[in-house]
Amino acid sequence: MKDEKCIFCKIANGEIPSKTLYEDDRFRVILDLGPATRGHALILPKEHYADLYELPEETAAELMKVAKKMAARMRERLGCAGLNLVQNNGDLAGQTVFHFHMHMIPRYQGDGQKIGWKPGGPTEEELEEIRREIAD
Ligand code: 5GP
Ligand code: ZN
Repeated sequence: MKDEKCIFCKIANGEIPSKTLYEDDRFRVILDLGPATRGHALILPKEHYADLYELPEETAAELMKVAKKMAARMRERLGCAGLNLVQNNGDLAGQTVFHFHMHMIPRYQGDGQKIGWKPGGPTEEELEEIRREIAD
């Protein structure tokens, strides 16, 4: 399903031009227009899914294969020293475009970017309480 109002549907399906790095029948990988680093790319499924919750399992599995292929290419061709895969779900988590996308952010020595969080310090009891909430 495509969403008429979704810009990433239009980009993924070639209705709006993009700097495409890779394309197959299910995905398009494009350069991000506001890159964190040189080569920052986005993997877009051609079908519209708002986020990870909507993404079918099989599409998620196929998408990770594309991520692996592109990661190898980026290391080989851009000479990046590392790579962050980032995927935001919900505006609170930083999602601004509500068509699933996986960021691929090549990392270079001294690139000045920081992708991270401030570590907490939970007690053993807190960790166990959370574990019980989430685990089966
Ligand atoms: P989010 O914050 O939703 O995880 O990431 C959205 C990303 O899409 C941002 O990094 C932003 O720079 C990028 N972006 C937004 N609009 C466009 C566009 O029209 N074309 C491209 N190539 N990237 C876009
Ligand atoms: Zn869409």
